[in-house]
Amino acid sequence: MKYFLLTLGCQMNKSDSERVSSVLEEMGYVEAETEDEANLLGVLACSVRQKSIDRVYSKIHKWNRAKNKRNLITFISGCVLPADRTKFMKLFDIVFQMAELPKLPEFIQHYGVTTGIIPNQHTYSKKSDKKIELCSTSLVADNKLLAPDSIKPFWNVKPTYHSGFEAFVPIQNGCDKFCTFCAVPYTRGREISRPSAEIIEEVENLIKKGYKSITLLGQNVNSYGKDKEGSEISFNQLLERIGELGLASGKEFWVYFTSPHPRDMSRDVIETIAKYQHLAKQIHLPLQSGNDKVLIKMNRNHSVARYAKIIEDIRELIPNATIFTDIIVGFSGETEAQFNDTVEAFHLFKFNMAYIAVYSPRPGATAYSWDDNVPQAIKKKRLHVLTEEMKKYTRHYNSELIGTTQKVLVTTYNASNKTLAGLTEGKINIVIPSNQEKLVGTFIYASIQESTDFSLKGHYVKQEADYVQ
Ligand code: SF4
Repeated sequence: MKYFLLTLGCQMNKSDSERVSSVLEEMGYVEAETEDEANLLGVLACSVRQKSIDRVYSKIHKWNRAKNKRNLITFISGCVLPADRTKFMKLFDIVFQMAELPKLPEFIQHYGVTTGIIPNQHTYSKKSDKKIELCSTSLVADNKLLAPDSIKPFWNVKPTYHSGFEAFVPIQNGCDKFCTFCAVPYTRGREISRPSAEIIEEVENLIKKGYKSITLLGQNVNSYGKDKEGSEISFNQLLERIGELGLASGKEFWVYFTSPHPRDMSRDVIETIAKYQHLAKQIHLPLQSGNDKVLIKMNRNHSVARYAKIIEDIRELIPNATIFTDIIVGFSGETEAQFNDTVEAFHLFKFNMAYIAVYSPRPGATAYSWDDNVPQAIKKKRLHVLTEEMKKYTRHYNSELIGTTQKVLVTTYNASNKTLAGLTEGKINIVIPSNQEKLVGTFIYASIQESTDFSLKGHYVKQEADYVQ
């Protein structure tokens, strides 16, 4: 029996999919290379963009048509808005919340083997002749519906990591921030911190197995522990414990976290990153807009000045850190002057990378009903202007690395042009001519010869053996 999983959206979903794979593989399912050879077809959905939702509909209609030719079961989980969930109930055999993952084997067994269907009609199980309705309560932004302990069994599922050297470790689920452009608090619910003992255990195991890159994941990662104040450690204490684990391990690895919120970014967290060698000197801190009025409208709950103070602290305490950000251009009502403040912010903060999104209303978000009144052509122009501004600083930073030797985590090998690709600690892409595929998943040193706007080119110098204290 084979399964196929379509994972849409962010790293959170990718991390969740590792736990879904584990549950299915425990049941005896094997991952299929293509959906055509699978008997079990699943989607981890993303509600951030309409495009992702459209993709779900196009897939499920295709899969339901395929049921006329072969027996298969379909399921959906992930970030699903309550309104979509009702529609998906009519299309998928199984609809469940991620917190219910440990029960997936039971759901599949209960469902049995599906009969062929006429597209757009309900499917029925041979066993029960009844469509399974697993999701009777919606996971909405209300802790009454999602008890803090309900996610626990999900976190206890051991993930099947997709990589042997890079891993994502969820430390929290949901979000309390309610940014007006975002639907996450409505799809994933309120913030719930994973017990720190479990996080430490998972990280410790990864270190023992020799993982080189470990990313702590959460929608609002640096508010970790705030929902359990007094009974759980803070985000800073969690980082300290992981930093200590690193020192005691005698291994080399980098620990990242994403995404933090400027409102919760305290100086002690920056001090901790500076203090511990295994905490990677790369910080991804979403700004979203360089104008205070737009930030208020986005309900970001911080000002540009507050953001500037954090950057000042990072530059003071970790001068070699790279800083990444997220920006939205063309948010509802954004004027030219307000956009120019974002351009100005780029001059001030000199980001090493900015993920710039053209605003599009996200179903389920507060701003969805607001006027999307910045014309598409203006949004595209703003995207172009900002990208060009960003290039000035990425180009400058990268060119300054020419002549230096950088430690690199090799992530892929391209056999067609005999090159290795990897990342520096600051997550700058690098390409190295080499036919040594065996270096994938290891740290090497490379001398930097050339740079472009967004990447480096270097020569292989030597491999780093794991050091022993
Ligand atoms: S902090 Fe804002 S953008 Fe991030 S997940 Fe929460 S609501 Fe969405």
